[in-house]
Amino acid sequence: MSQPAFEGMPQRLYPAAPSRLTTYLDCPRRYRLGYLERPAPSRGAPWAHHSVGAAVHTALARWWDLPRDRRTPAGGGDLLSACWLTAGFRDDAQQAAVRDRTRSQVERYLAGVDSDVRPVGIERTVGVTTRHAYLWGRVDRVDDRAGEGLVVVDYKTGRSVPTVEDARTSLALAVYAAGTARELRRPCTRVELHHLPTGRVVAWDHTDASLAAHLDRADRAAAALGELDERHAAGMSPAEADEAFPARVEPRCAWCEVRSACPPGRAVPQRAPWAGVVDPP
Ligand code: SF4
Repeated sequence: MSQPAFEGMPQRLYPAAPSRLTTYLDCPRRYRLGYLERPAPSRGAPWAHHSVGAAVHTALARWWDLPRDRRTPAGGGDLLSACWLTAGFRDDAQQAAVRDRTRSQVERYLAGVDSDVRPVGIERTVGVTTRHAYLWGRVDRVDDRAGEGLVVVDYKTGRSVPTVEDARTSLALAVYAAGTARELRRPCTRVELHHLPTGRVVAWDHTDASLAAHLDRADRAAAALGELDERHAAGMSPAEADEAFPARVEPRCAWCEVRSACPPGRAVPQRAPWAGVVDPP
């Protein structure tokens, strides 16, 4: 049961990473199945593209801890090979070919990074409060650049090439920028997506107004989720739960990790665990 609110009593903030909010905004049913249902539904087989993403992120983060003489593109390639994950691939031949190609992508990317200029944040956790929420997230990298100030960098490893619109509309990037500014006590308005497979970098310069619009949207989602979480914890019949958390059946259901517990979503054919990686020629 929810606590009664008394005048002057501080309001409990809803703690959430942006992924929690965007999961709800994309599909309330996926949110319920992924975050609230206990026992949690089976999550299905691991995805190969998740293995690739995790290995790249780990290698790029650890690269900064290497001694200076090994902090080279080849050193980054060695890290990628050392932390490579094999789950989700079609077979050994595919995972080995993708590993070698990904190693080349990491080395090419690091050739353009100044190894003497250490970022001010590497996988740094930042947070910001709104009226109803404490929003937090882990930023891949925060640069402090001459002329640009603090810049949020987010690594992307998927098939789709990010666009400027992706950077502009990303709730996560906006939360990272606001959280970075709060933690480092300096303005942070520039956000960038760095796509390893193509080397493409897209950027967006937020204004105070555009950041506030993102945080306002996040705050409204958090307020709604606070109420829904409480109602779910208090007990809902299956019909009530389905009504409160409707299924949004779309092509992305093919990739949904909780589709085994979602009859409407299973109408969309499932993708193979390795479908998110492009086979090297
Ligand atoms: S399968 Fe589709 S409709 Fe069902 S929970 Fe997943 S995203 Fe939502």
